[in-house]
Amino acid sequence: MSEQPTLSHNELHAWDRDHFFHPSTHMAQHARGETPNRIIAGGEGVYITDVDGKRSLDAFAGLYCVNVGYGRTKISDAIARQASQLPYYHAYVGHASEPSIRLAKMVIDRAPAHMSRVFFGLSGSDANETNIKLVWYVNNVLGRPEKKKIISRWRGYHGSGVMTGSLTGLAAFHNLFDLPRAPVLHTESPYFYRREDRSLTEEQFSQFCADKLEEMILAEGPETIAAFIGEPVLGTGGIVPPPAGYWPKIQAILDKYDIILIADEVVTAFGRLGSMFGSDHYGMKPDLITIAKGLTSAYAPLSGVIVSEKLWRILEQGSDTFGPIGHGWTYSSHPLCTAAGVANLEVVDELDLVNNARDVGAYFRRSLADAVGGHRIVGDVRGEGLLASVEFVRDRDDRIFFDAADKVGPRISTALLGQGVIGRAMPQGDILGFAPPLCLTREEADIVVAATVKAVDEVAATL
Ligand code: PLP
Repeated sequence: MSEQPTLSHNELHAWDRDHFFHPSTHMAQHARGETPNRIIAGGEGVYITDVDGKRSLDAFAGLYCVNVGYGRTKISDAIARQASQLPYYHAYVGHASEPSIRLAKMVIDRAPAHMSRVFFGLSGSDANETNIKLVWYVNNVLGRPEKKKIISRWRGYHGSGVMTGSLTGLAAFHNLFDLPRAPVLHTESPYFYRREDRSLTEEQFSQFCADKLEEMILAEGPETIAAFIGEPVLGTGGIVPPPAGYWPKIQAILDKYDIILIADEVVTAFGRLGSMFGSDHYGMKPDLITIAKGLTSAYAPLSGVIVSEKLWRILEQGSDTFGPIGHGWTYSSHPLCTAAGVANLEVVDELDLVNNARDVGAYFRRSLADAVGGHRIVGDVRGEGLLASVEFVRDRDDRIFFDAADKVGPRISTALLGQGVIGRAMPQGDILGFAPPLCLTREEADIVVAATVKAVDEVAATL
C-alpha cells in the first residue's frame, strides 16, 4: 500500500469543526468545539482505534451494522477486486453484474420461504421509500386507489427521509422538519416496560396493542389502509423485543383487513437476533422486508427490499399493463457494494455467526441482567440475540423516569467509554443500548458487562 499523506492532529480537528456537517449532531456545539469529537482511524475484530491511539471495544458495531467485525480482508479484497474489474455499471433496463446476481440469489436463499425477488438500494431509508412506493403501485394496479395509508408505530425507526422520517415514530426526527406527513399514522408502541396499565401481562398488553391497531383501522376505514410497517424488535426506539404473542396478534389483524406487512429488518436481518431473519424468529408473514446494515456489515453501503412471490406477481401484472416500472437509483445494486455483500454473507456462514449471536447473546444478556438488573437505578434489562438494553429510572418500584435534562443515559454511555467500551445512549429515554458485532466472544462479553457495572456505579454515585 502506498503511504497516504496524513493531516496533522490539529488540521483534522479544525477542518472537522469548520467544514464537516455531521448527521445527528448538535451543530453549534460541535462547530464551537464545545463537545468532544472523535476521529476513528482503524478497526480490528470488535475494537476500533482513534487517531489519538485510544482503543475501544465497539459494543454497538458502529450503528448496529458492522456485524462481522472490523478488518475482514475477505470483504475488503472482494471490493478491491471488483473495483479493478468493473467499478460500476447500472442495473436499469435489465443490466446486471455478477456480484449483484449472486447476492440476490444468496438473499432469497436465506429469506423466509415465500420471498421471491430483491431490489437493491443504498440505505435503509431509501429501501423503505421503495417499499412505500411499491405498496402504492400495487394498490393502483389492483384498482383500489383509496387504499394508501401506512400505519407505523410510535418509537418505530424507519429512516430520516421525508416519507421514512414520517414513518419513524420519534419526536426528534419530526420536530422542525414538518413531519410526519400524510398518509402516515402511528399506533401503540409494543413497549411492555412502559405500558400505561402496569397490571397487564405481556399477553394482555399484546392484545391491547392489537386492539388499538384494529380500532385505528376501523376508524380510518379498512379500505384506506394499505400497509403496516414494523421492526421485529424496536431498535432506535429503545431496543425493545415484542411482548409475548405480539406478532401473531398483529398479523391476524392485518390478514383480516388485507393490509400488507412490511418487516423493517434493517437491524435484525442476517443474524442479529440469533436467527437469519427476525420475521422467521417471530412468525411474521411480511410481503416486503427491508434489509441493509448486516447485508454488507457496512463495508459498503447497500440496502434491499425483498418482495414476496404474491406481490411480485402483481408487479409483473403492473408492468404488463403500464410498462417498465418508473423507479430506481443510479447506484441500485452498485457492483462494489454487492461484491461486499457476497463476501460478507460468506463470512457470516463460515464463522457461524448466526449461532454465535444466539449463544453469546444469551450469555451476554444473562450476565448483564445478573450484574446490573438489581441496581437501584436500573428498571429493565432486555433484549434478544445480540441486541440488549438497560433502562435507567429514578425509582424502580414506582417506575419513575429521570428528567431528560439530567441526561442520565448519555452520562452513563460517556462513563462506559471511559472504561473503554462503546454502548449507545438511545435517543428517547435513559436507555443504554448494545449491539456488538456478531463475532463477540464470551470473554469480550465479560469485558462489556464489567465496564457497564463500573459506568452505572460511577453515574449513580452522583445522583
Ligand atoms: N430502518 C431501521 C430499522 C433502522 O434501524 C434504520 C437505521 O438505523 C433505518 C431503517 C434507516 O437506515 P439508513 O440510516 O441506512 O437510512
